[in-house]
Amino acid sequence: MNAMSARPGGGRDLLRLDDVTKTFSNGTTALSGLSLAIRENEFVSLLGPSGCGKSTALRLIAGLGEPSGGRVEMLQARADASGRFDRGIGFVFQEPTLMPWGTVFDNVYLPLRLRGRRRARVEGDIEEAIGLVGLSGFENAYPRELSGGMKMRVSIARALVTRPRLLLMDEPFAALDELTRFRLNDDLLGLWRKLGWTVVLVTHSVYESVYLSSRILVMAARPGRIVAEKPVDRPYPREESFRTSSDYNAYCRAVSKALSLATEGAK
Ligand code: ADP
Repeated sequence: MNAMSARPGGGRDLLRLDDVTKTFSNGTTALSGLSLAIRENEFVSLLGPSGCGKSTALRLIAGLGEPSGGRVEMLQARADASGRFDRGIGFVFQEPTLMPWGTVFDNVYLPLRLRGRRRARVEGDIEEAIGLVGLSGFENAYPRELSGGMKMRVSIARALVTRPRLLLMDEPFAALDELTRFRLNDDLLGLWRKLGWTVVLVTHSVYESVYLSSRILVMAARPGRIVAEKPVDRPYPREESFRTSSDYNAYCRAVSKALSLATEGAK
């Protein structure tokens, strides 16, 4: 099933975590017995209270750290013949973490520069990534000249310029005002469908996870684990009409309930 299909996630597994445990050197067990599989083109949210191990899980998926037990397997981690995807994983953090001394162009160029790609050869790719996030014309602007939402757009462009197959996002919109957040949610969904990514998003917002995801994995803390799985079986594109529909409200209620059970259970 391709990214344009109404119900994503019918594809093959792209990523598997099998009985993953993570205990830090101070003795904190952040994750225990975490198993999940993510299929190509899915948009999956990891939803849970603060401290339940969402970021730890995302970092292990990104290869930033090793599990203490179990396995993290990235499948089909090769470039595809069309050149549409690189082998890489894109990561968008909660803070846009831009270089203040670099322009928008310089910041989006960074991951390619780190791969030894000459600026002149990738100019077109960089312009394209900046265009995809709606920032054409701001190539020469510096981060201090940009709003929070625009900085996050630069951060997304920087992740997508490497053509990742898998995009990992750690609460990317948490610090933004609601209108900006809604707009970025819509633009992210548009990019996801257009570019055929698989997305794993960490969030603690029920509303955001229902709006965006094809599937929500609800986590509980102490130790971090998945306690419920909620498919959001509604077609894409999802627009404002979905956000105000009774369907959307019903999903939000069901997911909220699973989340409060998770939170209660962990006390
Ligand atoms: P979440 O993203 O759901 O808020 P985290 O994955 O950040 O949760 O953290 C899960 C647990 O692991 C928390 O108790 C946190 O304090 C602990 N933790 C996270 N990173 C480290 C670390 N580097 N060293 C020790 N403990 C950590």
